[in-house]
Amino acid sequence: MELQTRSKVYTLPSYSLTGDLLGFLRCGLQYRYGTVGQLPSSHPVQLWFGQFIHGVLEEGYRQFDAARRGGKGDAPPWPEPRVAEICDRVEKRLGAQGLFPWSHDLKDLGRMRAQVALNDLAPDLFPLVHQAEVRLTGARRLPVEKIQNNFRNADRYEMVGVVDVLTHMELGSPHLANNRLVRLILDALPENLPPKFEVILDYKGMKRPPFKTSRGPHYWDIYGWQVQTYAHLRDVQDDEDRYPVVAGVLLYLNELFPTWSDVGELLRQSRTGRTDVPVTFDPEAVRVLRTKRARSVAYPPLAPIDFRLKRAVRVVPVDKNSMKEALERFDDVVARIETCHGTERKHGRVIASWERNAMDEGTCAACDSRTWCPDFTTDMRPRVPGVKGWP
Ligand code: SF4
Repeated sequence: MELQTRSKVYTLPSYSLTGDLLGFLRCGLQYRYGTVGQLPSSHPVQLWFGQFIHGVLEEGYRQFDAARRGGKGDAPPWPEPRVAEICDRVEKRLGAQGLFPWSHDLKDLGRMRAQVALNDLAPDLFPLVHQAEVRLTGARRLPVEKIQNNFRNADRYEMVGVVDVLTHMELGSPHLANNRLVRLILDALPENLPPKFEVILDYKGMKRPPFKTSRGPHYWDIYGWQVQTYAHLRDVQDDEDRYPVVAGVLLYLNELFPTWSDVGELLRQSRTGRTDVPVTFDPEAVRVLRTKRARSVAYPPLAPIDFRLKRAVRVVPVDKNSMKEALERFDDVVARIETCHGTERKHGRVIASWERNAMDEGTCAACDSRTWCPDFTTDMRPRVPGVKGWP
């Protein structure tokens, strides 16, 4: 009689949506060094920015929620000293993790954005929060047929995501009637919504990306897939306290307080039809902006809050088909990462094994691998005239 042996124990590969999948899509080789190899970045500017604004909103919500539970109303807007105290606290926390703003200008910009986020966005955002920082997981079939040099026994992989905010909404609820965020969300959704539903909110420490690009999928598509995948993971979660997810909402926080270069980019995108929320092109307004910029005014004047909110909020409706498509896209990304891992194992070479798929010059500009990366020295080398003009 033949005795069967127990099959070898193996662990499921685990992929986080933001750290792994979006990290790889930003650039495979950068992901290999920074996330897989845990090589700390010499100037983690974007990381500080994103963490700082997330931290300020979390801390603000914690204070708002504590007062609400105590039966008191303490909704923002809040006075400057209180916002400064929240910013100090978050800055210290990040400093303890080795994250610093690296320059006074960056720190000032972060604090100003935090103030605007707390005072212009949070009054509409905080009353909607049902749960914050919700960890979601699910398992998917590992697409082994698409993986070259596969080195694992696993047939499944784990997908992990952390949702910034889960909201519970009820149509016709009187306390949401004047909420500007709710109005923007409902305007973008079909009318046949269930009476109670959930919307997933995700903060992005960046400006609204253009929706049309000259090559391949870009941040517009990728972040859309991200919230669709969150919706799927929420859908399969074993939680009695949940309603159907009808949409994911991306909150592009830089739009609440843009810099001159953000305004310049917005004007360019509006002129070329690459943004879905353009400015109406008024030559006189552009002339005034140009004069202010020439006089070295530090930041552009703020547009009315309704327009800034419209730029900041992107609603991604969710249904079975859109979730399926997003999941398949991320399965493909997992196959690409597994292929890179497998190739590196087989040939023992890092640079040649990993995709160098940086989607924009900004990613390369902040990358520590620039000095040895073959793609930076070819595709991304600055070219004459080297300075982007302002419209
Ligand atoms: S320089 Fe650009 S292409 Fe090269 S590893 Fe860095 S981000 Fe990727």
